[in-house]
Amino acid sequence: MDRAVTAIDRLTVVVPDFPSAGIMFRDLTPVFADASGFRAVVDAIAASFAGTFDAVAGVEARGFLLAAAVGYATGTGVVTIRKAGKLPRAVHRESYDLEYGQAALEIHQSDLPAGSRVLVLDDVLATGGTLVAACALLDKAGATVVGCGVVLELGGLGGREKLAGRTVHALEIVA
Ligand code: AMP
Repeated sequence: MDRAVTAIDRLTVVVPDFPSAGIMFRDLTPVFADASGFRAVVDAIAASFAGTFDAVAGVEARGFLLAAAVGYATGTGVVTIRKAGKLPRAVHRESYDLEYGQAALEIHQSDLPAGSRVLVLDDVLATGGTLVAACALLDKAGATVVGCGVVLELGGLGGREKLAGRTVHALEIVA
């Protein structure tokens, strides 16, 4: 965990006014691009939820990177939660508000056996709309959400409160 926090602190790039004025965008791609940083982050997430899940769901797009790596490291399957219009078969759909706009997420209705214990991963928790929608999709798909994992939580935006009743683990929380 300490190695993960050190990597996050050292490598995250804060980009003011992206993608719109007033947003301080926390760009974690340099953490993922760093071999030891990526390993530390993936290992820390896997350790936080060890033994609790049989599949990992990643939220498009940076959540995919985390989910694929955690799934591989723990020998579990990976499910994609995608932006609307990308999945070819029957989907469940949830609309939600972003820190900077509106969007919808979708999941295939039949990617997971009913009752699968699923860990949901994304890079950043901000207002929580994305992960609330992701969890709702997994509920609709008949899965059991065991928790939500993120690399970075932006405290003070209400995301954790919006996810009340869910287990939420962030490797680091920043103001
Ligand atoms: P939210 O639904 O508000 O919790 O937003 C979380 C999603 O939007 C994640 O997929 C993040 O990648 C992205 N996001 C929102 N705000 C930021 C931010 N300030 N820096 C980086 N990513 C963000």
